[in-house]
Amino acid sequence: MSAFNVAKFGGTSVANFDAMSRCASIIENNASTKLVVSSACSGVTNLLVELALGIQNPKDREAILDDLRTIHYAIIEQFSEQKKTKQAVDNILDTLSSMAEAASFQSSDKLTDHIVACGELMSTHILTQLMIERGIPAVRFDIREILRTSADFGKAEPIVDKISELAQQKLVPLCQENVVITQGFIGSDNDGNTTTLGRGGSDYSAALIAEAVKASGLEIWTDVPGIYTTDPRIAPKATPIPEISFSEASEMANFGAKILHPSTLLPALRHKIPVFVGSSKSPNQGGTWIRKQVESAPLYRALALRGNQTMVTLRSPDMFQTYGFLAQVFAILAKHQISVDLITTSEVSVSLTLDQTNTSGQAPELPIDARTELEELCIVEVEHNLSLVALIGNKMSAKKGYAKQVFSALEDFNLRMICYGASPHNLCFLVDCNEAKRAIQVLHQELFEQSA
Ligand code: ADP
Ligand code: ASP
Ligand code: MG
Repeated sequence: MSAFNVAKFGGTSVANFDAMSRCASIIENNASTKLVVSSACSGVTNLLVELALGIQNPKDREAILDDLRTIHYAIIEQFSEQKKTKQAVDNILDTLSSMAEAASFQSSDKLTDHIVACGELMSTHILTQLMIERGIPAVRFDIREILRTSADFGKAEPIVDKISELAQQKLVPLCQENVVITQGFIGSDNDGNTTTLGRGGSDYSAALIAEAVKASGLEIWTDVPGIYTTDPRIAPKATPIPEISFSEASEMANFGAKILHPSTLLPALRHKIPVFVGSSKSPNQGGTWIRKQVESAPLYRALALRGNQTMVTLRSPDMFQTYGFLAQVFAILAKHQISVDLITTSEVSVSLTLDQTNTSGQAPELPIDARTELEELCIVEVEHNLSLVALIGNKMSAKKGYAKQVFSALEDFNLRMICYGASPHNLCFLVDCNEAKRAIQVLHQELFEQSA
């Protein structure tokens, strides 16, 4: 069994030459780091999404391609050996140019994945060369050779057994003699088409790869020194959490804490791989350890925020004192492969939120044919511009008075939907997206800043 460390670097960590050099130092300083998973350079995936959505004017497409060349060349131009890496980037940009033109006629989820994958394909060429120039025996590996997924473009599901089998055959032997640099976010389906795991998916890739190679540890290097009590950009008094359980961190990620892709911890948990989250800008500042067992289980652990929520409310007097209504609703949703996230019901109505999002990051829509079928059953209302706020903690429902504390703090807010009591570990509600940050600030102050 191999005992080595997998290190993942996010977009800001590989944003430019200095940032990438800091990553190289982190890799050099830990001899057991044999596998490096890199995101695209900061901002690149957003530019690629623009191209994928279809830009009609050739000049506007060219401008984006120029921006992409500039971002990548700025790093390569610091190298002593530039030609090979520039050539690799140019080849990718050439293919990208044709794909962007195709997208301007007709965009599709499949084409989008081919386009957005280019960011990680470019950044890994550059990071590999940077490492080689520092005398590290680095090789670039195209993760699509092993990261097999379903063909659900934009939100592909990994085929875990196949990934493990291929990783043992193709990746583990490479790691014996080299530091392997590979792409996060992307994979391929059984027909060899490029797929992606959804925005922010590099964390998930790193965890899947760590599982597949039976790694002893997984490091997620990002732009903040660990997981905080909430996003420090929203509440500047948020504090880092030194140690957190898999289940608490999973809840945070599921409820939108951008620091981790929601699925990241599943593979780590399956193989009990401890996960460290730290800042590549200040690697010695410490960070957060995510483990199966941790010492403390505070009542309130963290607050998370997820934007772009779509709420669907279904009303029907037929629901009152009859059976089978919800079954019919869910049969329609299942038929159209619509995944439901939160749900609350009353006698005559049910409100639910639709599960997020694919690579384009837009709010999920209720497909028109699903709506038509639902309308045969009940009145359908769809609301956008909502955000989900989640309070994550431990055994909250067993604590008297906690609901009063939370809802008193929120008395100025119009809460659209509240999920309370289903889980002892979270309470969540929807608010207007313009109010969401303030709701986080108010709750953070009430629940996390008082006793310090
Ligand atoms: P990367 O590009 O390294 O994957 P992301 O931007 O995806 O980085 O995630 C890091 C960001 O997550 C931070 O800059 C911070 O704004 C945000 N974030 C959201 N919730 C939290 C939290 N609870 N703790 C720390 N950071 C958080
Ligand atoms: N580059 C992808 C994104 O921006 C994946 C990632 O960085 O995790 O979403
Ligand atoms: Mg991320």
